[in-house]
Amino acid sequence: MDEISTVEKTKKRTFLGLLLAALLVIIAIIVYLFIIAGNPGAVFSRNLAMLIISFALLFAGLILCGLLFIVLAILGKRRFPGFSWFVGRTLYLYPFVLQIGRFLSIAQDKIQRSFIEVNNQLLCLSPVKTEARKILLLLPHCLQFDGCPVKITHDITNCKRCGRCQIASLLEITASRGVYAQVVTGGTLARRAVEKYRPKVVVAVACERDLSSGVLDTFPLPVFGILNERPMGPCFNTRVDLQKVEQTLDFFLKKENSYREVGY
Ligand code: SF4
Repeated sequence: MDEISTVEKTKKRTFLGLLLAALLVIIAIIVYLFIIAGNPGAVFSRNLAMLIISFALLFAGLILCGLLFIVLAILGKRRFPGFSWFVGRTLYLYPFVLQIGRFLSIAQDKIQRSFIEVNNQLLCLSPVKTEARKILLLLPHCLQFDGCPVKITHDITNCKRCGRCQIASLLEITASRGVYAQVVTGGTLARRAVEKYRPKVVVAVACERDLSSGVLDTFPLPVFGILNERPMGPCFNTRVDLQKVEQTLDFFLKKENSYREVGY
């Protein structure tokens, strides 16, 4: 199995555990509805309660299947038929997972990192191998040197390659492979870039929040997330592990032997 390492070794169980907790909450609500539906003095009709319970049971069943598929895929390192569909249903619970994490005082970025880790590993199980022009590298605007006067969000090749930030190196990496690169300031521009280039796979560099929302927004389009580094604080002169970017692009390139294997 070919795999690439992600930026940080975050525990996948944080996200998966919270997903399970969300499922248990839904089951608890179903049990509660059963109890009040059986009460003769219930404020709403038994039929209505049974209808709600049926929908909730169906939803819980789908979530359970999705969760089991994810765990089995990670443990068995293979995906099953219908995998994406079930996982897609499970992702509906993502906002609820964040709320449960907040309730349990688990840092949001820790949950988001864990989610990205799960997402990346699932992508590595049956990676899309495609030609360079079908790979899009999305970069956050904060990678650009704060004092740079050049506008690169419209066209990254406007960069003068002065070397004061990593945009110059990233241009070299993408140009040498023929991969499209786009600098974006947020979700709207990122979505526009996806519509424009119609990639088969996106490699995105961003913070935890933007990466997780990008993965959710574009699902089932494969989006591999690479966390940026923030030595000067968030959204300001950020950096990225260039070797990681190269490895990831090469991993998805169709070309024979174009990627290096790195232990996950
Ligand atoms: S490398 Fe490009 S983007 Fe970075 S500071 Fe120089 S001209 Fe600006």
